[in-house]
Amino acid sequence: MNLYRLIYSSYAKSDLEYHDLKAIMQKSEKNNQAEGITGLLCYGDSIFLQILEGDRTVISKTYHRIALDTRHHTPELIECIPIESRLFGVWSMKAVNISDLNSQQVRNLILKYSPSTTLQPHTMTAQQCLNLMQALAALYDKAA
Ligand code: FAD
Repeated sequence: MNLYRLIYSSYAKSDLEYHDLKAIMQKSEKNNQAEGITGLLCYGDSIFLQILEGDRTVISKTYHRIALDTRHHTPELIECIPIESRLFGVWSMKAVNISDLNSQQVRNLILKYSPSTTLQPHTMTAQQCLNLMQALAALYDKAA
């Protein structure tokens, strides 16, 4: 397998609701499991930041399908690189809803990896996005 990691960000549609997020996660878990995709989806400040790991052709197809989804817009591809191993091997799509976390801790983490206190991936490098997402996922696990 040609193992790759793809990172992108996008803007949620203005009237996105909790049931939309739930539906996206349910569909992602089902499809990704069947296609050997793993990863992480962060949502906060009306922004999505997602990592997809898996076979290059498969994650490319999935990204292009996701990009057409009207529940978000203006996707920006941040990174698509070959990797030695997966970071999210046990998760077909782990979800982190930033509003479920302690807002001060989230702000501190965002400040650590970006020039802003709100999630603004367009101001961040791919490595900063990756570090932030891993830190948010760890915070999420700790809070659970
Ligand atoms: P179906 O679920 O049958 O959908 C058919 C079509 O209808 C698709 O074009 C779909 O985009 C569209 N659609 C379905 N429900 C809605 C709705 N409520 N509003 C608008 N359009 C809708 N999918 C994955 O497989 N893996 C992922 O990791 C993944 N991550 C996502 C992250 C984000 C931020 C978003 C917004 C969507 C994500 N999706 C993901 C969903 C993806 O965009 C497609 O909706 C899904 O993959 C289509 O699945 P399906 O082929 O079984 O078609």
